Amino acid sequence: MNLVLMGLPGAGKGTQADKIVEKYGTPHISTGDMFRVAMKEGTELGLKAKSYMDNGELVPDEVTIGIVQERLNKPDCKNGFLLDGFPRTVAQAEALEAILEKMGKKIDYVINIQVDQDILMERLTGRRICKNCGAAYHLVFHPPAKEGICDRCGGELYQRADDHAETVQNRLEVNLKQTEPLLDFYQTTGYLKNINGQQHMDQVFADIDFLLKGLV
Ligand SMILES: [Zn+2]
Repeated sequence: MNLVLMGLPGAGKGTQADKIVEKYGTPHISTGDMFRVAMKEGTELGLKAKSYMDNGELVPDEVTIGIVQERLNKPDCKNGFLLDGFPRTVAQAEALEAILEKMGKKIDYVINIQVDQDILMERLTGRRICKNCGAAYHLVFHPPAKEGICDRCGGELYQRADDHAETVQNRLEVNLKQTEPLLDFYQTTGYLKNINGQQHMDQVFADIDFLLKGLV
């Protein structure tokens, strides 16, 4: 099964990727891991990517696409792959189509986990961390017994700057803007499958699994 997984931060992409890998053994190919491996192996493209990153520059598309191509040609992808974090743009999606065509393959599904923005806000801003022992809580999903106080050590709980509403809102908007043209593209190609990510994570997986069962 050749899959692309999409979803905004907080949509539960990581959880669902794990479940897909666990059930189907499909290699999970996330952009970050792919870069790390290419750099560690010291491939020509990996070294190129590293030189851009070391300079704090964006890795250009042709390098990223080359690394994806190398990764998809590895033997473990023979029976499929689960791409996560790539493609990010329509240009990258078109490049992916070309790579797969050369390999005699095509995408089966682009699975997009949909969650309303207000729910994502609630999920992403609710995290609280203990100043003293580092224990993590969530105002909705894992609240401390006493507001603002760590259950474990009595320390004070705080919200990390990354989790502040303004930061999260901004991150979501940037992602949304970037994702929209890509979703349109995959709608047109017919690969796009929207999954309701506002259900319990087991039900989200059941919906994904229903699609995937048809592929094996
Ligand atoms: Zn604590």
